[in-house]
Amino acid sequence: MNRDTMIKTIQEHGDYPWDVLIIGGGATGLGTAVESASRGFKTVLLEQHDFAKGTSSRSTKLVHGGVRYLQQGDVGLVLEALRERGLLRQNAPHLVHNLAFVIPNYEWWNGPFYTIGMKIYDTMAGKLGLGPSIHISKEETMKAIPNLKEEGLRGGVIYHDGQFDDARLAVNLAETAVTQGAVVINYMKVTGLLKNKEGLIQGVEVQDIESGEKYKMIAKTVINATGVFADGILQMDDPAAPRSIIPSQGIHLVLDKEFLQGESAIMIPKTADGRVLFAVPWHQKVVVGTTDTLVDKESLEPRALEEEIEFILDTAAQYLTKIPTREDVRSIFAGLRPLAAPVKGKDTKEISRSHKVMVSLSGMITTIGGKWTTYRKMGEDTIDKAILIGDLPERDSVTKNLPIHGAINEVDDNDPLYVYGSDKKFIRALIDLQPSLAEKLNPALSYLKAEIIWAVREEMARTVEDVLARRTRALFLDARASIEMAPETAHIMAAELKKDKIWEERQVEEYTVLAKGYLLGKIV
Ligand SMILES: Cc1cc2nc3c(=O)[nH]c(=O)nc-3n(C[C@H](O)[C@H](O)[C@H](O)COP(=O)(O)OP(=O)(O)OC[C@H]3O[C@@H](n4cnc5c(N)ncnc54)[C@H](O)[C@@H]3O)c2cc1C
Repeated sequence: MNRDTMIKTIQEHGDYPWDVLIIGGGATGLGTAVESASRGFKTVLLEQHDFAKGTSSRSTKLVHGGVRYLQQGDVGLVLEALRERGLLRQNAPHLVHNLAFVIPNYEWWNGPFYTIGMKIYDTMAGKLGLGPSIHISKEETMKAIPNLKEEGLRGGVIYHDGQFDDARLAVNLAETAVTQGAVVINYMKVTGLLKNKEGLIQGVEVQDIESGEKYKMIAKTVINATGVFADGILQMDDPAAPRSIIPSQGIHLVLDKEFLQGESAIMIPKTADGRVLFAVPWHQKVVVGTTDTLVDKESLEPRALEEEIEFILDTAAQYLTKIPTREDVRSIFAGLRPLAAPVKGKDTKEISRSHKVMVSLSGMITTIGGKWTTYRKMGEDTIDKAILIGDLPERDSVTKNLPIHGAINEVDDNDPLYVYGSDKKFIRALIDLQPSLAEKLNPALSYLKAEIIWAVREEMARTVEDVLARRTRALFLDARASIEMAPETAHIMAAELKKDKIWEERQVEEYTVLAKGYLLGKIV
């Protein structure tokens, strides 16, 4: 994936219409690009910042049916998500793992209640199930999670769901789309819509954020896949368009692995205020979250509220023997769910997470809602609609069985490079040519210098933030260590991108300001 080549392609394409033009490079847009290109449509995707900069790098990292939605009786959504969970594990086995979750039981009725609930979950997954749910004794529960609070514990229920690396899947989807013939470009912002005399959409105006250059791009269908930013594009289309999205914020705290011993995750099905809380092992750390707080404004860098931080720390303290404090938090990150605007008086927890594909009077298609797990189905439904609206030839979806870039079945989780799947051998080859690239960037994390070179050459990383936040996950795993990694990262990138010392210094400065927003304890 080379940005200069992509830009050259759109310049050469000129006024010739694209079949499908997608605005937004998160899970929804990238999934739609794979869907469109794999059906043979001329496809272009434009992302204003980096791929997965928005909500799609800030999830709980679960590929799941959604036990919570089962509790709420949203059977259709759970069935769809369980099917997609199975397909994603089949198509991206290098990134999606089978993870055991323990529901600790402290009340007499918890055991039978959650065992029956999870058996229903298993039945709904059918052939694509990841393993049977079982009731376990108190001793077995303590063995699975040795640092769980023992007082009052009666037993537990184990069930299985998928776990993944969200930003890495986004990069792999971009690569899959490109392999299928799509053009995908980061740092390319849609600034306006083009319409004909009848008011029908004809294309978009875009600006290259790096060079400042502006382009007009013509397309048979324009798809708004901008998540919590969808209303901004809908209002470009019709200034009187009502608000369709209310962002709901969720935050996560990242702790060292010692706070969650054993290999399993914990799922607390009902916290003090009726939410679900997870503690999930991820890349040798533990991700604890999340919250559900309506916020007024969308933002590319949302910030955790004090009450959200307290809620997570207080809830974790009720279940864990080693109680996490603010100083133990390695990174704190917030994300915004693109929820359909709630009906007055309805709590956000109760709003369905199903996706919606809407068509404006101008013919613009907007896809909102859903979740990472269901990105493929969202793409399929969106392209089905685009075929109708854009008068494109009828072609069936092939993504159910389409391997995602990097897919291999032999995955060695103990090798930190496992997330690259079939690309791992190319990173090893870089190291063979230049052994110093095997050096770690920071002793606290496993990332190697070779990964920076790979990210720039093959994965369209343009800034230090792209590398430390989304090509690697350093920012999300240990924000302080990632700040220490920034100067070396900038130096290696500058050589690759032929940038000068001033670029390097500016990158480090900008990154440091951003990363300080992911620190909770004091900076020493
Ligand atoms: C706290 C939290 C936890 C979650 N956990 C899970 C989970 O464990 N499992 C799961 O399945 N789902 C989870 N989700 C849901 C999932 O993360 C989202 O549904 C999904 O990431 C939304 O993707 P998206 O592409 O619609 O939006 P985004 O990822 O926000 O992408 C939209 C993109 O559009 C771009 N854009 C905006 N305006 C323009 C413009 N003018 N020009 C070009 N580009 C533009 C933005 O920069 C952005 O990158 C979670 C969500 C949250 C908030």
